[in-house]
Amino acid sequence: MMIKIQGVEEKDLRPLQHIIDMYNMHAQLKISPETAEEAVIAFTETEIRDYIEVKAVFSSNDAEVLKESFQKHAPRDLADKEKRKRAKQARSHVLVKLLNTWTKTVQPWGTLTGIRPTKLWHSLYRDGMELESIQTYLQNDYLVTPEKTALLEEIGLRQHHVLPDLYDLANGVSIYIGIPFCPTKCAYCTFPAYAINGKNGSVETFLEGLHIEMEQIGNWLRKTGVPVTTIYFGGGTPTSITADEMDALYAKMYEVIPGIHHVREITVEAGRPDTITPEKLEVLSKWSIDRISINPQSFDNQTLKAIGRHHSVEETKEKYDLSRKMGMKNINMDLIIGLPGEGEKEMQHSLNETEQLLPESVTVHTLSFKRASTMTKQKDKYKVAEPDEIEKMMKQTADWMKTHDYHPYYLYRQKNILGNLENVGYSFEGKESLYNIIIMEEVQSIIGLGCGAASKWVHPQTKKISRFANPKDPVTYNNHYEEYTHKKITALDELFNNQSGIKAGTKV
Ligand code: SF4
Repeated sequence: MMIKIQGVEEKDLRPLQHIIDMYNMHAQLKISPETAEEAVIAFTETEIRDYIEVKAVFSSNDAEVLKESFQKHAPRDLADKEKRKRAKQARSHVLVKLLNTWTKTVQPWGTLTGIRPTKLWHSLYRDGMELESIQTYLQNDYLVTPEKTALLEEIGLRQHHVLPDLYDLANGVSIYIGIPFCPTKCAYCTFPAYAINGKNGSVETFLEGLHIEMEQIGNWLRKTGVPVTTIYFGGGTPTSITADEMDALYAKMYEVIPGIHHVREITVEAGRPDTITPEKLEVLSKWSIDRISINPQSFDNQTLKAIGRHHSVEETKEKYDLSRKMGMKNINMDLIIGLPGEGEKEMQHSLNETEQLLPESVTVHTLSFKRASTMTKQKDKYKVAEPDEIEKMMKQTADWMKTHDYHPYYLYRQKNILGNLENVGYSFEGKESLYNIIIMEEVQSIIGLGCGAASKWVHPQTKKISRFANPKDPVTYNNHYEEYTHKKITALDELFNNQSGIKAGTKV
């Protein structure tokens, strides 16, 4: 259906389209050009004392006229930019209410688009707002459901429990290392992941570059005394390279990263079970890697085949058992809700299988149709469950986690995620991934090394965030890693310039 929006300037239409997009699972809605109207939403906006009041009327041929209004607090002396922001929030609020009524659905995250719900929760908590008031505020102003505000509170408090210095980590850094290779490419994947035996650059040359990059960043860390909190190997699949290559890489890490024995957590994703071998597990143990990920995604062989995982359920279980036997004490498993052809029955099967293994943490993703993935390009080929069923699967999973003593500890949302829901990391007490919390809450800078690694700079004082991306493909990386490393060091110098009170080896 084409919707004509009245009373809103052209430049303010985008956030409204984002809201309308959230309902696309329920109705094909688009803001229309002037002539193609099938429904009209007419907005009016007025300032009343210390409030901005937005009213809107929805009318179409096949529905009764609907009306909504909302007053957003906006004191008169507020800066213009902030006033515009609040007017935008008020328009979003009114639009969500109208569309909820019209489509007879509820958006669980209300008006929240393009913002991390947990970050918003933390900003309110850090400002000293009472827990109950945070919940009320998020429900009233942002129309987040009580179920989701309770989830946010549970996650926010757990993060504080796990990282009591969560708000004081900005003087340190974490390191992300991207290994861009996988045995094959999965259909839903948009990560920098190239078939390891393909033509996208030589693995040896990439690793040579990575060693040098690590060395130079290590030198910078030594020179400045900026401490490292966590290290995370992702990709791709970091266990796609050989055991010897892994051994050399971790040896280099221990050699060049100062204070490595004080680093609180080192994770290596071993996502694809087909990359795990006894030799590689030996290397992981040898270098005291704290945490690995073995990702089933689903425990249904047909689904795995359909999404191009190229490993079987049996192999996942076998490699999990092997990892346990070889001393891995903190294993994460990823599951995906809403994979093609899967509904509640298949989800229950995956949960039953997970029960046999009981990994220390389970990250539950909801399938999202990312623009560049094969799945999105061939959407017709992949039949996925309806939003109602996705929501039931999400609840089924959350209930299962609760009864098995897993606690939610981080959460994020993505664009085009099925049912407009979320991804949630669950873990047993004390087995949370610190890196995942740090990156989601953006509480300290992350230095990205290797392919596709995005560095995130969090200014230690202002907390202003900027980003810097390494090249995604190995060929460009191999040709330019020196230039990129140099740029990163310059950025880090600026970021940490004139910092006081940071001493080498300080545990941050
Ligand atoms: S294993 Fe992970 S990184 Fe590799 S192709 Fe599949 S989803 Fe992408």
